[in-house]
Amino acid sequence: MSNPNILILGAPGAGKGTQSSNIVEVFGVEHVTTGDALRANKDMDISHLDTEYDTPRAYMDAGELVPDEVVNEIVKTALDEADGYVLDGYPRNLAQAEYLDEITDLDVVLYLDVDKDELVDRLTGRRVCDECGANYHVEFNPPAEEGVCDECGGELIQRDDDTEETVRERINVYEENTEPVIEHFEEEGELARIDGEQTPDEVWDDVRDTVESEA
Ligand code: ADP
Ligand code: AMP
Repeated sequence: MSNPNILILGAPGAGKGTQSSNIVEVFGVEHVTTGDALRANKDMDISHLDTEYDTPRAYMDAGELVPDEVVNEIVKTALDEADGYVLDGYPRNLAQAEYLDEITDLDVVLYLDVDKDELVDRLTGRRVCDECGANYHVEFNPPAEEGVCDECGGELIQRDDDTEETVRERINVYEENTEPVIEHFEEEGELARIDGEQTPDEVWDDVRDTVESEA
């Protein structure tokens, strides 16, 4: 049997990256994340698209969505190359959801449900490893030694867009653009809703059970 194609949905800070790491480890799929792909190509020249800004960085620093043309291309290439994947950070609007529908078949659609009040605390306290990308929280999931990655000893940094002001804008953008995507999958009857406010281990139990029963 081939590896499953998994979509993980949720607001910024809902725990998608955290749970995607577990999924990769246990189910042997690729982690396809548009946020990481864009961070690795922040200064790519996109001026030919004639959109508001000339680089992904400008959109990301403002907490806005990078244009669909840029993101769709990244996702198409990554999914074509993957033998099973967990897709994280995409689709973020209905046009992206329609595009995804054209290019792939999903086996499982997970939605991590977290109340908005919790998201700001999660994102402003997030720290990521500069070397390996491992994910921590200063209060909810601290490393053994402050500022140092448990996995590889790398330096833990705060993302440029995890400041309170940008976080609030990202949540507004999510409500306006991405909540309709959640409703779309819910109406199709494909959405497995998971309580994302449990501990990371409890969320993982639910995620693993859902993937095992649906894939
Ligand atoms: P997303 O990828 O959805 O933006 P992350 O997985 O990066 O979210 O999680 C955001 C922050 O919240 C991180 O600092 C992470 O350590 C923390 N976190 C993740 N899951 C939980 C949880 N179930 N309870 C508390 N904090 C969590
Ligand atoms: P994330 O790492 O998923 O929190 O994404 C960080 C930022 O990257 C977002 O605030 C957007 O600016 C950009 N981004 C990531 N994924 C997408 C997407 N699917 N569509 C448009 N912009 C995206």
